[in-house]
Amino acid sequence: MSKCKICKDIILFRWGIRHGFGECVRCGTPYKYYHYDDENNREKYFECRLKEEYVDVAQQYYQETGKRLDAEVEGFEEWLKKKGE
Ligand SMILES: [Zn+2]
Repeated sequence: MSKCKICKDIILFRWGIRHGFGECVRCGTPYKYYHYDDENNREKYFECRLKEEYVDVAQQYYQETGKRLDAEVEGFEEWLKKKGE
């Protein structure tokens, strides 16, 4: 089971519009899902699509507010501004 880089829980994956892309249902972090058929015997895995420089701030935001990254854009901006004061 893969754990989410941001909410640190097991990824509850929801497919997006683009093939192979989706998000963690809990926190909204975007992921690409690599899956191969069992004959290839290769591991299935999630690749976090959040840029490395945003990972820390996204983790902090989720931990402090419990809000999804995409659903609360206004809330995120306010939270970020407070951090800068
Ligand atoms: Zn998550």
